[in-house]
Amino acid sequence: KPLVVAIDGPSGSGKSSVSKAVAKRLGLAFLDTGAMYRAVAWHCLNGRINLENAAAVEGAARTIGLEQSLTPDGEYIKVNGINVTGPIRTPEVTAAVSAVATNLGARAELVRRQQDIIAKSGARIVVEGRDITTVVAPHAEARLILTASEEARLRRRGLQLGGAQTDAQLRELVLARDARDSTVVEFHQAADGVFTVDSSELDFAETVSAVLTVVRR
Ligand code: C5P
Repeated sequence: KPLVVAIDGPSGSGKSSVSKAVAKRLGLAFLDTGAMYRAVAWHCLNGRINLENAAAVEGAARTIGLEQSLTPDGEYIKVNGINVTGPIRTPEVTAAVSAVATNLGARAELVRRQQDIIAKSGARIVVEGRDITTVVAPHAEARLILTASEEARLRRRGLQLGGAQTDAQLRELVLARDARDSTVVEFHQAADGVFTVDSSELDFAETVSAVLTVVRR
């Protein structure tokens, strides 16, 4: 029977690794929607599409060929056949991605593609992003927001990046991006019927358990 698990949350909340672990435990497919926004941003940078030209960015989202893994292991994403799994995680793409995320036409197109992927999975999938509980899958069987304090998020992202960043760079990567994105997507506040899991005081295994408890409630 259908089991769509919608997980939203800010950068550094542990959303991605927790969502993958939950998908694995429940034997569900997995969709990283952030990778799609990043792939469009990468494509614009690579193809010299002006990120300040809203119509061009929307056009890129509409015409781009995207192919991505839909399982919790061996994550990859291809843009028009080019494997960009690594390149979409560079600071350049991370800095450019808000231009895609704040483009309503591009969002509408990516939401459509995400809903299509959910339908093709037989509605047995964990979907992770910013607007999944509210826009992409508002009727999901389980909807939750994974949060963590600013301090915990900065610390985790810093560890993930190997500690090479200054505090200011980390704040830009984690907080400023979310602030920019919040102008179009409200993902900090749980909508009606959406559970919040705060992982600030939880380790990875405890966070996964807390999410599984919500899914099985
Ligand atoms: O989760 P991740 O950091 O890979 O997401 C990259 C960016 O994609 C986010 O900063 C946000 O701008 C955008 N995004 C979004 N809606 C989603 C998923 C990601 O706007 N559902």
